Amino acid sequence: MENLLIIILNAVLVSTVMCLADRVNNHIHIFVKRSFCMQCGHFLRWFDLIPILSAVLTRGRCRYCHNHYGVHYAYLEFIGTIIGSYLFSDPLTWITAYLLLFLALEDWHSESIHADILIPGIIYLFISNWGDLKILTTCAILIISLFLVYYRQVMGSGDIPVLVLLALTTTSQSFSLTLLLASISGLLYLMTHHARRLPFVPFLYFGWLGAILFEKIIIFNSL
Ligand SMILES: [Zn+2]
Repeated sequence: MENLLIIILNAVLVSTVMCLADRVNNHIHIFVKRSFCMQCGHFLRWFDLIPILSAVLTRGRCRYCHNHYGVHYAYLEFIGTIIGSYLFSDPLTWITAYLLLFLALEDWHSESIHADILIPGIIYLFISNWGDLKILTTCAILIISLFLVYYRQVMGSGDIPVLVLLALTTTSQSFSLTLLLASISGLLYLMTHHARRLPFVPFLYFGWLGAILFEKIIIFNSL
């Protein structure tokens, strides 16, 4: 029963984060109370808002105007629910996963993010980890990031808080693996899409998830 409640909670949270990202990306105030179709403006009923199921049953179409918003919502909600439920026992990683999901969706859509939502958490982690070797590593990453953003201009300024947060919440091995996976997947994207630039946060998110899940599975299997 407890596991079922955790799954339902995570399904609702993933759906809510995706809805918030959609609203921000479409310049709609996040405190508009009722959900509605972005195409026809029709208010959605409760059965249009069931995570995963609603998108599957309607095959990713609005029931009112038949606009195809995409069945990929169901896939993302499903994968997000599994990952969120798996990470639920580790609150810091769990919260980081939802913050990064929101920022990754935002970056993918508009190539700019509200990275300032990470600042309170970063300040808290800086204070609570003060004296730890992790602070030294984080400062080195911060200096390198500032150099890459403001001198070489090869990264966006929004990437800095994300990198700092990841440095503060992961082990040095996981952080290195995160950067490796993010860079490889980003390069593959650039090559296959013949693009010259890419939103980096989604790839950092992907790399971080890969590193975290790899670390947790390795630790679990070694116990
Ligand atoms: Zn519609």
